[in-house]
Amino acid sequence: MPKIIARFSCGAASAVATKLAMWKYGKDEVEIYYNDTGSEHPDNVRFIKDCEEWFGKTVHVLASTEFKDTWEVWEKRRFLVSPQGAPCTGALKRVPGEAIWNVGDTEIFGFTADEGHRLIRLRKDNCEKIIEAPLIDMGITKQRCFEILQSEGIVLPVMYRLGFRNNNCIACVKARDSPNYWKRIRKHFPDHFNRMAKLERELGFTINRLSVNGVKTSVFLDELPEGDPKEKDDVSVSCGFLCEASTPVPMDDPLADEPTPSTDMPHAAPAELPSFF
Ligand code: SF4
Repeated sequence: MPKIIARFSCGAASAVATKLAMWKYGKDEVEIYYNDTGSEHPDNVRFIKDCEEWFGKTVHVLASTEFKDTWEVWEKRRFLVSPQGAPCTGALKRVPGEAIWNVGDTEIFGFTADEGHRLIRLRKDNCEKIIEAPLIDMGITKQRCFEILQSEGIVLPVMYRLGFRNNNCIACVKARDSPNYWKRIRKHFPDHFNRMAKLERELGFTINRLSVNGVKTSVFLDELPEGDPKEKDDVSVSCGFLCEASTPVPMDDPLADEPTPSTDMPHAAPAELPSFF
């Protein structure tokens, strides 16, 4: 029988999307899966438990049988990231995530109301899959997801509370050209920062290319200017397990203007909607 798979990422958006999928299909019909990369904040264990209570069912944890964490992927593959994607996503998310997928399964993702272009791109790159994004269908923003979780008494994951835009792995290589992100990593996770700075030097590769006197210049992490982050992370990094590309859809991409195909998720709120609406 085809399954309904909620791709729970330990982010606020995927938590709310999972809850909506259970409302749409019924709690017993939805299977919830989380990909453990071995490199996310340990507070995720607490967040999963809190969400399990909210969902009223277990979150299944998937993990690579080949790599224990992102560092092992980067160090063995001798590769951090390129415009085509990051090897950690494929090895730690895509491979274990695909293992439980079969043709005909429906997958629920936590793309938010402003991420229609990501959904379009994902569907285009994965024509064989049935992909739903209930937050887009219902116009729910990420901020609203934060509010919903808080109203349900669920404390947000630590990474958000430290000021990161996303609850990604600590030292996410897709945070390219984002000095504020890396300054925040340096401030809160100095060991991770130093390890990545060393790895960059070993590989002769820089994650950040910053504008110096108007010229885009490669900057190693150990050259990052001193000081705390002054603003939010410069980029918002979405790392769904199907989403290996790190580059956002450029504004002149014809896909950027396409309307987001909707699912049959109702747009109007019927009486049975969960209490947080
Ligand atoms: S969140 Fe970042 S570090 Fe983690 S798997 Fe995705 S791209 Fe790699």
